Amino acid sequence: MKKVAILGSTGSIGTQTIDVIRNNEDLELVAVSAGSNIRMLEEQIREFHPVLAAVWEEEKAKELRLLVADVIPECRIVSGMEGLLELATLEESDILITAIVGMIGIKPTIAAIEAGKDIGLANKETLVTAGHIIMPLAAEKKVSILPVDSEHSAIFQCLNGERDNRIHKLLLTASGGPFRGKTRQELENVTVEMALKHPNWAMGQKITIDSASMVNKGLEVIEAKWLFHVDPSQIEVVVQPQSIIHSMVEFEDGAVIAQLGTPDMRLPIQYALYYPDRVYLNGERLDFSKLTEITFEKPDLNTFLGLQYAYEAIGTGGSMPTVLNAANEFAVSKFLHRNISFLEIYDIIRFCMDEHRLISNPTVEEILETEHWVYETIERRWKTCGIHS
Ligand code: NDP
Repeated sequence: MKKVAILGSTGSIGTQTIDVIRNNEDLELVAVSAGSNIRMLEEQIREFHPVLAAVWEEEKAKELRLLVADVIPECRIVSGMEGLLELATLEESDILITAIVGMIGIKPTIAAIEAGKDIGLANKETLVTAGHIIMPLAAEKKVSILPVDSEHSAIFQCLNGERDNRIHKLLLTASGGPFRGKTRQELENVTVEMALKHPNWAMGQKITIDSASMVNKGLEVIEAKWLFHVDPSQIEVVVQPQSIIHSMVEFEDGAVIAQLGTPDMRLPIQYALYYPDRVYLNGERLDFSKLTEITFEKPDLNTFLGLQYAYEAIGTGGSMPTVLNAANEFAVSKFLHRNISFLEIYDIIRFCMDEHRLISNPTVEEILETEHWVYETIERRWKTCGIHS
């Protein structure tokens, strides 16, 4: 029996992880968590009887205690960062699925590694900002960082049995998002609704906007650098609009190995939970008799500046990926609240990267201070002149 704790069990990755657990008797859900969605947490607690539930806000935690106290008294309900840390290090768990969104995942992920838990890593923002801390720590503690992101899971699968062979290049595929082929001028007036319409994947709001801006692919380049120990110059982004090839690895001899499948996040989630085994997954399969085409394009780096900025940030290194990530988190939230236009996401990231004084090897505290610096810098600039001037 493998015991699973989930950070962010009510989101897109969280609920799909629960679906995998529901379909496999040898997986047990021992801890759940959410920011504020206590209605769904209540359902999860009633169905799975976990030993712990973490809610960000204490007020919501109090409400949840009242909702489940009579039926599931054995489930402890905790709150705040202390609660997330308790969940991450829970004695009863074997693996932590980091399905929370944003840099808030850094401390719990580090705590879980310190406690010897394997990590099924979906929360890419953590690796983007603290990869230089997390990867050596995981090696020291001998815990596995198992990628859940579909592209990184694909690469991980392609590397099976190839440990001693050198990677020549990683070919990270991208769908191109809802705005593929659009010019910068055409992006000027796109709406939140248009940006949230991903052609192939149903995901949480933040990552869907990141896919539209291609910041997501940039974050994935940085994530791949840390997971697979390659130089960013060895990572090539290939647009593959049908999202059938999830990524590829080119080896020294020119052989390219790819992983294909339907766009279903349960596959990489399940692979992380069972690695190195494969178990049956019910769902749609690729039907090659109906598949009409798999096409490839180069990404448009001049329009989708997010990818260009990410290569620049990881090239600079140190605290710059944190600046890219934090400025993006802030800007995406403003865009979703309709306070800024789509293209201003890029302006905000550019502005912060230009203003930042680099810290070469930031500690966790310095990463979090950099995050605050980014937020304050944007707010100040916004109040005085607006982002454009
Ligand atoms: P969602 O927005 O759908 O879910 C986020 C989860 O985190 C929710 O359970 C949310 O709770 C919880 N959460 C948010 N803030 C807090 C907090 N302060 N304390 C505790 N829990 C919190 O995101 P996704 O599932 O789409 O993405 C999760 C991560 O996985 C991201 O880093 C994303 O980049 C990555 N990823 C996602 C993919 C996908 O297909 N969705 C694919 C590959 C990677 P609540 O419901 O209460 O808000």
